[in-house]
Amino acid sequence: MGDFALPEALLVALRDVRSVGVITGAGISAESGIPTYRGKGGIYDDPDEGDRTVEALSAPTLQSDPDRTWRALFQIAGAAVNARPNAGHTAIVEIERKAERFVLLTQNVDGLHRLAGSRNIIDIHGDAFELICMSCGKQNQFNDPRTGATTGQGLDIHRCAAAGRAPRCPCGGVYRPEVVLFGEMLPEDKLRRLYAELLDNPPDLVISVGTSAMFPYIVQPMLVARMAGKLTIEINPEPTEISDFVAFHLKAKAGDALPAIAAALPNRV
Ligand code: NAD
Ligand code: ZN
Repeated sequence: MGDFALPEALLVALRDVRSVGVITGAGISAESGIPTYRGKGGIYDDPDEGDRTVEALSAPTLQSDPDRTWRALFQIAGAAVNARPNAGHTAIVEIERKAERFVLLTQNVDGLHRLAGSRNIIDIHGDAFELICMSCGKQNQFNDPRTGATTGQGLDIHRCAAAGRAPRCPCGGVYRPEVVLFGEMLPEDKLRRLYAELLDNPPDLVISVGTSAMFPYIVQPMLVARMAGKLTIEINPEPTEISDFVAFHLKAKAGDALPAIAAALPNRV
């Protein structure tokens, strides 16, 4: 930590920042050992699954072949259950502590931001540990040893993953994860927060980190901030859709660049 050198112009611009929005994707959790979708080492790289991962994680497949949807999900959730927050997650907590106003919009479903201690989180794609029965509507969860929430009330994710089948409710119905699958609507309450906290009143600084930025609701806050004359930064070792219009594209790992940004921000408390 502390070795990553930010461009001088960025260091100067960071001095005036009071409000911050951070947008994260699977890449921020790569350094915690959770595979991304796209990019090097992503689960799309799997020769058996390839691009078919999107099909597996879609609403129609959940209806016709829930075991297949769950096998794809277990790749993420099964890695998440053993994962710990990394330097990138921790730096975002530090940025929130320093900012007068802060919002974190994450596409991740691994719970690592919550574990690290981030507070104002919009988890727009939900949480892979929360379950709801598709027949009776009863809610349940996977036990999460990371939080000590092993009350025995919930399900054991390792056992379910080893079985390679969709977990089932006592009523006989199939559980679905409380995540947004491809082809599904985003939750309205979270969309409203996204609009209010990122679009209507863009923060002084908006950072996009570890996302291939494929979705319009991820690109839009960056565009709006840029057009409103706010500071925009992308952190990603590879170029994406938004690399050309952000003020600074840092070709770096989240765990290297985010601590440098957190350190450079002024203290407001
Ligand atoms: P993505 O998999 O499409 O892209 C990951 C991006 O992260 C790539 O652009 C890659 O270059 C970059 N990256 C890789 N390592 C990095 C690092 N150390 N630091 C910074 N960047 C790094 O991810 P996405 O855009 O979030 O879209 C994937 C979708 O899949 C999301 O909807 C998400 O809900 C879901 N998903 C979630 C998890 C998770 O919760 N951890 C994991 C996989 C997929
Ligand atoms: Zn049920």
